[in-house]
Amino acid sequence: MKGYAMLKIGQTGWIEKEKPSCGPLDAIVRPIAIAPCTSDVHTVWAGAIGDRHNMILGHEAVGEVAEVGSLVKDFKPGDKVIVPAITPDWNSLEAQGGYSMHSGGMLAGWKFSNFKDGVFGEFFHVNDADGNLAHLPEGLDPAAACMLADMVPTGLHGVELADVQFGDSVVVIGIGPVGLMSVAGAALRGASRLMAVGSRPNCVQIAKEYGATDIINYKEGDIVKQVLDLTNGKGVDRVVIAGGDCDTFAQAIQMLKPGGQIGNVNYLGEGDYVKLPRVEWGCGMSHKQVKCGLMPGGRLRMEKLASLLTTGRLDTSKLITHKFNGFDKIEEALMLMKDKPRDLIKPVVIM
Ligand code: NDP
Ligand code: ZN
Repeated sequence: MKGYAMLKIGQTGWIEKEKPSCGPLDAIVRPIAIAPCTSDVHTVWAGAIGDRHNMILGHEAVGEVAEVGSLVKDFKPGDKVIVPAITPDWNSLEAQGGYSMHSGGMLAGWKFSNFKDGVFGEFFHVNDADGNLAHLPEGLDPAAACMLADMVPTGLHGVELADVQFGDSVVVIGIGPVGLMSVAGAALRGASRLMAVGSRPNCVQIAKEYGATDIINYKEGDIVKQVLDLTNGKGVDRVVIAGGDCDTFAQAIQMLKPGGQIGNVNYLGEGDYVKLPRVEWGCGMSHKQVKCGLMPGGRLRMEKLASLLTTGRLDTSKLITHKFNGFDKIEEALMLMKDKPRDLIKPVVIM
């Protein structure tokens, strides 16, 4: 079969591989809609997880089941499914401990385009099919549903990590597709003042549509000062980090009230250390918490998040700025993600 792969750090291309084989608990899926991710860009061009050779890329897909193992109960060939980017081993000790995304080791629930071939192939393998696949609800557009694989669960997880409560003031740093889902998630969770940090005009517009009350442009001055100016020097209850770099944590601490919480889902592609400013961190006694996480996967969560779309509570179609048709367009879509033209939010390829 054909797939679009990371050949080595900094290099991608089309390759031929054996079609994956199906274990008794597994499924083989054929993609219907796929989306490239900023994480694919970090993986290939920043070498963020180290070198990988001839590994098929991609971890965001909606597909059709082509084959299931003998022990799979709830899925059969022909079923349309949403495939979460994170596919844990549900019988692992880490999953039993509540951290399924780290099943088998840190970040090891992230298998596609990390430890095994991803979804940019004519077929791909899904472990633990009953636990990891979700049925695509009738009538849901596959392109909009494809945002459920990673953008929705990651953006919303940032909000969960920051533990946004009714009436909280919140800053979301970064309003690419992930941060836009954090803005939407913070609004769903009852944030009051909701400040969004970004600069691309279409992201700014959509952040407002998802509930941002204030926009902060990080290119027009220090974001800490801008947040403090908007809050009479008091700062905010919660910060969600969905963009920026290692220095963003220091800014988040500086704009946070004592007892506040930071939820980070940004993938730090470069740099060695994250530093926290000692004084603004209350010399270690501020009760300012930092929580960081990889999105949780799994069927239950995926089906619950899909119900946000089917009930009209969340509209992910706003994220899709570029649509391509045909498997061969994967390369073009990924390069678009790498080059990030200013009108891009998220590209999707329909097979
Ligand atoms: P984008 O690159 O589309 O968006 C990044 C956002 O951050 C943009 O709004 C950008 O602003 C803003 N930004 C960039 N630099 C700064 C800065 N110095 N200060 C403040 N804001 C800044 O990324 P995505 O939305 O696609 O992804 C966000 C992150 O989430 C990525 O690192 C991705 O790898 C990660 N991720 C994490 C997952 C997880 O499970 N934890 C899963 C999936 C993705 P501008 O408007 O100027 O572009
Ligand atoms: Zn992704």
